[in-house]
Amino acid sequence: PVCDGRSSAVADRGPFIPALAPVVGADTRVPVTGGSVAYANLDYAASAPALATVASDVAGALGEYASVHRGAGHLSQVTTRRYEAARDTVRAFVRGRADDTVVFTRNTTDAINLAAHITPGDVVVLDIEHHANLLPWCAPKEGRSRARIVTACDTIEDTLVALEAELASKPASLLAVTAASNVTGEVLPIGKLASIAHRHGARILVDAAQLVAHRPISIVSHGIDYLAFSGHKAYAPFGAGVLIGRSDWFDAAAPYLAGGGATADVDLGDEGTTWHSGAARHEAGSPNVLGAISIAKACEALADLGPEYIGHHEAALCERLDAGLAAIEGVRPLRIFSDSTDRVGIAGFTVDGHAPRAVAEYLSSEHGIGVRDGKFCAHPLLKRLGHPEGAVRASFGAGTTSDDVDRLLNALTTLCGNAA
Ligand code: PLP
Repeated sequence: PVCDGRSSAVADRGPFIPALAPVVGADTRVPVTGGSVAYANLDYAASAPALATVASDVAGALGEYASVHRGAGHLSQVTTRRYEAARDTVRAFVRGRADDTVVFTRNTTDAINLAAHITPGDVVVLDIEHHANLLPWCAPKEGRSRARIVTACDTIEDTLVALEAELASKPASLLAVTAASNVTGEVLPIGKLASIAHRHGARILVDAAQLVAHRPISIVSHGIDYLAFSGHKAYAPFGAGVLIGRSDWFDAAAPYLAGGGATADVDLGDEGTTWHSGAARHEAGSPNVLGAISIAKACEALADLGPEYIGHHEAALCERLDAGLAAIEGVRPLRIFSDSTDRVGIAGFTVDGHAPRAVAEYLSSEHGIGVRDGKFCAHPLLKRLGHPEGAVRASFGAGTTSDDVDRLLNALTTLCGNAA
């Protein structure tokens, strides 16, 4: 497809980015008071609908399906090859190093818990993180929390200074940061953060759950050491995620799960258990082959299209939404940083006089619009932004149209009672 930049023409070109047609399409109708309407899915940041191309790949894989890593039979070989090829596809999609280990996990949360398991020392982390990139570091290891939490400043620039000061004050093994906020969509400067971490002898882990489906990402050129993401936020179904990164920490750590598949040899006598190195060390048990195949197919579809294409599509929608929201009295957009210049297709906001749940229910029951409300698994951030009770979040993806945005704006205008 031809991408013509940040113009609204991109958003207007059709109901879907055709290459990313989802299993659940634009024709889904949902009940509203007095009838039914086409569903406006503005909740991509929670989960992006799986692609039709992913579903057909999974169906194909189910037609030639047998155990992985366990059999000499033809179908076992085919399935094992598919599973291992999925690692290579994911590595290529995020531009990983050739010798990076790719471990399939359940989701981003599981991936970061695995990262916490293999990380040897202290971790510096911002207070704006999703709980998935906060709580695993706070969990006691050898009797203490390893998280050194830095409060984000009003600007990204000052936040970089604060992180640098923390890393300079005392050695840390890792800086763990989100690539894009799941509450506001603001994108963090990953390359600069990686340079800061490396300057002070730390590695960097990037929580890319909200980025991989929206922007191109390169482990090599951004200088990322570890990257985590979930399939279900990148147009694959639920149930699988990825942690990719430098192999030495993976190989030095005890297996994340103990069991079959992670062992080279088990001896109940003096020899003890010899564990595999590489991904197998941390993937004991029968793996989620279909999840891995799904992620790989979604990565291929995104790579074929060029993730920047989606970025342009969303930027046009964001411009339209931001302009519309600014014109509605009583709607207050959320921002962490006053100097952020890049945002994925996420808009967090509150509505004066209306609880977030009431807004979300109204949008659903009266207008057939699906948004998320609540604290977005980022309680410290919501408290800091002055909204401990939560907020509303509209989020975009490949299937979002300018019509969806207009429906949201019209509905909020009516709710706020300032229709023209
Ligand atoms: N990190 C971020 C930034 C997220 O937005 C999310 C989910 O919303 C997660 C981590 C956790 O992802 P999952 O629920 O797939 O583990």
